[in-house]
Amino acid sequence: CGIVGFIGKHPVLNVIVQALKSVEYRGYDSSGIALVNQGHLVRYRSVGTLDQLVKILPTNLSSTLGIGHTRWATHGAPEERNAHPQVSRGVSVVHNGIIENFSELKSQLLKQGYTFESETDTEVVAHFIHLHYSKCKNIPELFSKILHDLEGSFALAILLEDHSDHIFIARKGVSPLTVGRGPQGVSIGSDALSLVGIAEEICYIEDKTWGKLSLDKIEIFDTCQTPQPLHFILHPLGK
Ligand code: GLU
Repeated sequence: CGIVGFIGKHPVLNVIVQALKSVEYRGYDSSGIALVNQGHLVRYRSVGTLDQLVKILPTNLSSTLGIGHTRWATHGAPEERNAHPQVSRGVSVVHNGIIENFSELKSQLLKQGYTFESETDTEVVAHFIHLHYSKCKNIPELFSKILHDLEGSFALAILLEDHSDHIFIARKGVSPLTVGRGPQGVSIGSDALSLVGIAEEICYIEDKTWGKLSLDKIEIFDTCQTPQPLHFILHPLGK
């Protein structure tokens, strides 16, 4: 169970795979990657080891932004349809943790006409984001709602097709999340280890905050939309 993400100046797929290898030690039963490719979201998922995921990855993707996940199933068996990223139209989500009120949210979303192809609590998050983002088209409002309405513990990385230059993140409870930066670009990972060789400096993300990351800007806010100071430290395992 690990989350990674990278925004680079050059194609990022290999960097994302490298970061996923660094979180393998946390244990996992399946894995997946989502990328922005020519303005559209694409995803690749596989049950089993990362080698199995790598086998199905294209070799010629020029995407410079993407997220990845290793899953330790809590809701739904280790099957491809339950692997992350989970999606809703134009939304792609990777998640570590548990959404405690997922069944309540799921029944509300079913009433709104959403259909579910997985048994995960994470697909609920993807549809929840789709519903509220299409209503308000307002990112700060969307993230206040995520941090307020989703109960439990989560670290989330989100791609929105509408904002194809950004990775969005949110954190609540015990699930850790780290942002990194270095000459190659801006990264996210569950821990410092996931960003070895990728980030020169890292910053731990506080509880109940969300962030908007692009190649040239890292912004973190609390639920009142107050910008949070970023305390970057040199990567402890850096050169
Ligand atoms: N609860 C989510 C699931 O079962 C995330 C599990 C994880 O942290 O890897 O899909």
